[in-house]
Amino acid sequence: MRPEWSEAKRLVVKIGSSLLVDAATGTLKAAWLQSLCDDIAALRRGDKEIIVVSSGAIALGRNALKLPKGALKLEDSQAAAAVGQIGLAHAYEEVFRSRGLVAAQVLLTLGDTEERKRYLNARTTIARLLALGAVPVVNENDTVATSEIRYGDNDRLAARVASMMSADCLVLLSDVDGFYTAPPGSNADARRLDEVAEITPEIEAMAGDVGSELSRGGMVTKIEAAKIAVAAGTHLVIASGKVLNPLAALCEKGGTWFLARSDPVAARKRWIAGTLEPKGALVVDAGAAAALASGKSLLPAGVTRIAGRFDRGDAVVIRNGDGHELGRGLAAYGHEDTKAIIGRKSGEIAEILGYRGDPELIHRDDMVLKRKV
Ligand code: GLU
Repeated sequence: MRPEWSEAKRLVVKIGSSLLVDAATGTLKAAWLQSLCDDIAALRRGDKEIIVVSSGAIALGRNALKLPKGALKLEDSQAAAAVGQIGLAHAYEEVFRSRGLVAAQVLLTLGDTEERKRYLNARTTIARLLALGAVPVVNENDTVATSEIRYGDNDRLAARVASMMSADCLVLLSDVDGFYTAPPGSNADARRLDEVAEITPEIEAMAGDVGSELSRGGMVTKIEAAKIAVAAGTHLVIASGKVLNPLAALCEKGGTWFLARSDPVAARKRWIAGTLEPKGALVVDAGAAAALASGKSLLPAGVTRIAGRFDRGDAVVIRNGDGHELGRGLAAYGHEDTKAIIGRKSGEIAEILGYRGDPELIHRDDMVLKRKV
């Protein structure tokens, strides 16, 4: 078993429509879903956290609405998703419950994983679900996602979720068993790659542009997903879902691994420290500076002043009274709310702001400190 798999603590598993829904009848493949959930239950017993990203809503709903075969107009796929998502969520709920697990439905759009403010909300909720032992089952919120704000394919959605959640590993279960040097159906020389250490233009060219029948995601979207995942420090594997117990089978038969060069925590820290443009600054007192150095979160009580205009989720610089940068982090409150609560105890936040927000201004996990020189 590869270390990328055995050592992963947090896994995202993406399930394509064609695995879950019978193309001829438009009904759910119940035996397959049960075998998948058996695998997930076994992984949970091994103390791994699992997030499922599942397609299938449109494929299930189009049948119920008697929509024609072939490509659907956007409004028809949205209508189909609205119908199919109920059945999809119900199926997961039932199958997980019978295995002693709690399923949680999470519907996201592009903006929820990209806009800072909503990103923090989605991340916090999914992290809480995991901490409570639930299995989040994510899909795109197809009903509200118009062309500008939708992913349209769950490969990239899964990669964004994996990166947002700092997952160690993302499994794309699909109707092909890996990434091939050429389309395996039409090219006898096509060979499956076991490992891709770097996504070169050559690899991208091999992806071609073939999609499969039921889902939109062909190899092109899988490569896009791989780029997002590895940049976030998440290993990605493309493996066959066309067998029962597909995750157990992955351990035996492998797939194509796209390897990340750093771990998710290091990648996220790099993103916070380097990629994001800081929108403001928080000046902290000596007590807070010492608390940060000892690994604590930044509480409102230790902040004396703020500068700039920022929203929840924006990057801000943390400075000491002399103006030296101590580190950077993602603000849990916008600048107006921050101003209202600095110098105050966390227990007073609800009374001051009129809602119960986070107890800290910057959570430890959202912060990178500068190394002392
Ligand atoms: N969100 C769509 C659905 O659940 C699927 C998109 C995809 O297959 O990538 O039907």
